[in-house]
Amino acid sequence: MFDKSFCASCEGIDCLMNCQWIDFNGIDDARLEMQKLINEDANGRVLQECIACFGCDEYCPNNSHPFDLINELQEKHNPWNMNPAMVSKMIDMYEPKRTLEIREIDPTKPVLNKCAFPKVNGKQMKGKMFDNLQSVGGLHYFCNLVYQHVAKPSVIKERVPIVLDNFKKIGVQKNTEVICWHDECYGLYTSYCERNDLEVPFKPVHLYEYVYNYLKQHESEIKKLNLKIAYQRGCSNRYIPETDKWLDKVCELIGVERVARQYDKEQALCCGGAFPWKGKKELLIPTQTKNIEDMIQYSAEACVFNCPACKETLEKQLTEKGIKSYFISDLARLALGESLDY
Ligand code: SF4
Ligand code: SF4
Repeated sequence: MFDKSFCASCEGIDCLMNCQWIDFNGIDDARLEMQKLINEDANGRVLQECIACFGCDEYCPNNSHPFDLINELQEKHNPWNMNPAMVSKMIDMYEPKRTLEIREIDPTKPVLNKCAFPKVNGKQMKGKMFDNLQSVGGLHYFCNLVYQHVAKPSVIKERVPIVLDNFKKIGVQKNTEVICWHDECYGLYTSYCERNDLEVPFKPVHLYEYVYNYLKQHESEIKKLNLKIAYQRGCSNRYIPETDKWLDKVCELIGVERVARQYDKEQALCCGGAFPWKGKKELLIPTQTKNIEDMIQYSAEACVFNCPACKETLEKQLTEKGIKSYFISDLARLALGESLDY
């Protein structure tokens, strides 16, 4: 939840001044627009021009979560004029259709959380690193944060307590390690739940941390890949910048250089996959072109993703430019001498 207590004395208005998508006529203009948001003014420029990259949440030095406020106002005022039929279809698409089948897990052992992707990304969850893990997956465990992209935070609020309950039903305990294959899940179970006072009944572990620890245990089997990669940082990672260090540690172990390109870290550029939903289709090609040219300029041979949707959105264009697409666990598997059967 947005915390406005620091905003009146905020000197930099970093949340808006650092926004890559909205131009402000100096800090006073940004301050004025911030005040409009706080006043819940439907005519604030930010609501319409925002593309929902989540960046302002990371830029705010006070951890105030301005994007929570922006997104709630976007739901209230519909500044993107979203097609209601498309939004309803999306809401229905990720709602569990069948009753939860309870298969109890061993709470003393780690659990791989496959989120909604056990089938679509099943091949990327295979290999020695994953094969012996117990797992959960499917819509009953879907993180639901995607609804921020269609300005429906109320759907997230409604469904997340049910998802947390589903975890309880399968027997997780406070110290059960739940490895989040999906970056967005980790963002949900750490940042989102914490700021919304939702108790998480297990210990979330980010995929990068899990991959690093696995590699460390099998360090003698690693053959360095000697590869230059560009990192396509997904929007949900703005909630959990602390996970970045794990990526760097993995890269170092497997002999991968993360190129110091312009659109990485705080300057990460949205993949654009959700632009058309928000009536911002015209931004899609220029954004993707800028992003991919940046990777080429820094001689990246491959692109590493933390989000299946970003990968799906950019993979074709990257392949055309001779840049391969991977999740970091895929690269880890290659470094361990495994082959990828896709
Ligand atoms: S949200 Fe953060 S950065 Fe933005 S005005 Fe408030 S305190 Fe400043
Ligand atoms: S979410 Fe992104 S586009 Fe929207 S205001 Fe924040 S930084 Fe700007």
